[in-house]
Formats: sequence, C-alpha cells, structure tokens
Amino acid sequence: MSDNFEAIVITKTDDGQTVARETLPVSDLTDGDVLVKVEWSTVNYKDGLAVSGAAPIARKSPMIAGIDLAGEVVESADDRFKPGDKVLANGYGMSETRWGGYATMARVPAEPVIKLPEGISARQAMAVGTAGYTAMLCVLALEDHGVTPQSGPILVTGAAGGVGSVAIALLAKLGYTIIASTGRVEEADYLKSLGASEIIDRSELSGDGRPLGKERWAGVVDSVGSKTLANAIASTNYGGTVAACGLAQGGDLPSSVMPFILRGVTLAGVDSVMAPREKRERAWARLATDLEMNKLDAMINEVSFDDVLEAAPTILQGTVRGRLVVNIAG
Ligand code: NDP
Repeated sequence: MSDNFEAIVITKTDDGQTVARETLPVSDLTDGDVLVKVEWSTVNYKDGLAVSGAAPIARKSPMIAGIDLAGEVVESADDRFKPGDKVLANGYGMSETRWGGYATMARVPAEPVIKLPEGISARQAMAVGTAGYTAMLCVLALEDHGVTPQSGPILVTGAAGGVGSVAIALLAKLGYTIIASTGRVEEADYLKSLGASEIIDRSELSGDGRPLGKERWAGVVDSVGSKTLANAIASTNYGGTVAACGLAQGGDLPSSVMPFILRGVTLAGVDSVMAPREKRERAWARLATDLEMNKLDAMINEVSFDDVLEAAPTILQGTVRGRLVVNIAG
C-alpha cells in the first residue's frame, strides 16, 4: 500500500472555498474504524452543492468531498469487516464533518459500512449511491404506511434525476403504476423504459396551487420540495402517503393542513444521512432484490476521477439524466 493517497479537497478561504486534487499521507486518515481502498464514487445533488460551494456542505476545513464510496477493505478495527471485503458507505457526515469518498483511500466509521450485496458490483453500488438508496427509503416509507400497488398510482417528481430514476425503476418492479413528473419531457422514452406509465410536465405542479386538489395518486416520492411538494400533497388520495426527501425546487413548503385533516394524508420525511444501520441494511437488501440491474445500467454516465471537479457542479443545473458514477481507481 502506498504511503500517500489522492483526494478532492475543499479548503475554506476568506472568500469562500477552493477545491483541488491533492496528494495526502495515508497517516492523515484518522477518523474511523475501516480503511477502504476506494474504487468507485458518485455525484449526488449534495456533491454538486459541496464541490461548487453553492451551499456550505463542508463544515470543516480541509474537507475531502464525496458523500458515497465503494471499494475494498484494507484494514478494520471492527470485527464485522476484514481485509478484502467489498463494501459501500453512504452519507453519515462524509463530505460534511468527515472526510469522504472522492479519494483513493478513506477511513470511515463502521456504522454506515455495508458489505456489497450479492449481485451488486462496486460500480453498480455507486450507480445506486445516496440518490438510489434514498429512493429505496422512500419506497419503504410508502410500504410502511400501507401503500400497495392496488392503492392507486404513485407520483414521482424530479423523475429524470437520480432519486426519481431509481424510484421509478423500483416501483415498476414492485408492480406500481407510476406518474412521472419532469421538466424534460424529451426524456419521456427514457422514463417509460424505466417503468413510468404516464409523463406529466412539472409545470403542472411547480406553480401556486390550492389547499386541496382533485385526488390523483395514492402515494408520492418527492425529491423537489417547495410548491411541487405542496401540490403533490394536495392531490394525494384519501389515506395516501407522501415520502419527502428533497429540495431541488426549494426548501419551503407552502402548504396547508387541509390534506392532513380532511383526507388523512401522511407526510413521511426521509433522511438517508444519519439513518441507523438497521435501516441501511434493510434498504440495501431490498435494492439487491428489487432493482433491475439492466435499468440501473441504463441510468449510468461515467466520469473519471480527473473529471469529477468539473462534472459535480453540473448536477445543480438539473440536466444530468440518471446517475453520474465516478471511476476513482481508474
Ligand atoms: P438530481 O439533480 O439528479 O435530480 C433532481 C431533479 O429534480 C432534476 O433532475 C429535475 O428533474 C428536478 N428539478 C431540478 N430543479 C428543479 C426545479 N427548480 N423545479 C422542479 N424540479 C426540479 O438530484 P438527486 O436526485 O441526487 O437529488 C434530488 C434531491 O433529493 C436533492 O434536493 C437532494 O438534496 C435530495 N436528497 C435528499 C436525501 C435525503 O437524505 N433526504 C438524499 C439524496 C438526495 P426533471 O428534469 O425530471 O424535472
């Protein structure tokens, strides 16, 4: 093993931040139980915010970017892992308060480390990444609140993005009817190939709405927030559930209590970052059985470690289709 490793480092400055590829000694990696030789990472929306500096994601300086990683265990202070194990880790403060996955080596706490499920490669695990694992958490939230394929259709917002694409593929495999809301109607064929039955233009949902609308869907996977989420809630069927995980349109929620008190709608919040281990294991076990790998492969755009600095901010423009996967090991 080399004494040094390569990483994308965010450094806070008086004017904001600088981001650069740097060579660091492995002995600087001190925070965690499991040393991993990173092979693949990915670009999620939060990575775009961190690398561009559009939001203060990195709360320490210097900070290694990358909220996800997959690779091989080199050493472990935790009995559950041994050298040679293939593992993944999502979130848990990586790129925020702990050094993350845009690095050839990483040391992470054991809590978020999961052995790669049977049938999922390190590259595919990162094609899933935090976006896909969050999509799975949203689907589990719908199931846990009693939404079934017989309940009625499911609305997926931000459909052509990472969370949206994986949510559609998962829901389709499980037998749901899916209404995909997108600003990119030119991606209709892609969304239908993932399993969407109906495509709606996101402008239908992104403007000012009424407290209650016509009942249209039994459940929602929303990665958009703001007026879109408010309108999605307002058109949820009696007794339905809305899984809210994102803020691509905005962090506000200009809604009213009407859907909750007149239709018994449930708003289920979904957080992937600090999700306990049991929930992570449940989500990854379900991803292994319920995500069709040929659909996942169709979502992948691969970028090299050299190109991640340029590629990460592009996700904020909402033009990335599916998932950006980063080839760290080369
Ligand atoms: P992507 O950029 O891949 O997808 C977001 C999608 O939202 C876009 O592709 C676009 O879809 C749509 N969108 C973008 N801007 C707007 C807008 N102004 N109005 C309406 N729709 C818009 O990001 P991810 O899928 O990685 O993440 C989506 C969201 O989920 C982010 O806010 C992210 O922070 C959040 N998230 C939260 C997690 C959690 O733990 N709670 C974990 C992972 C993600 P289209 O072109 O189809 O309209």
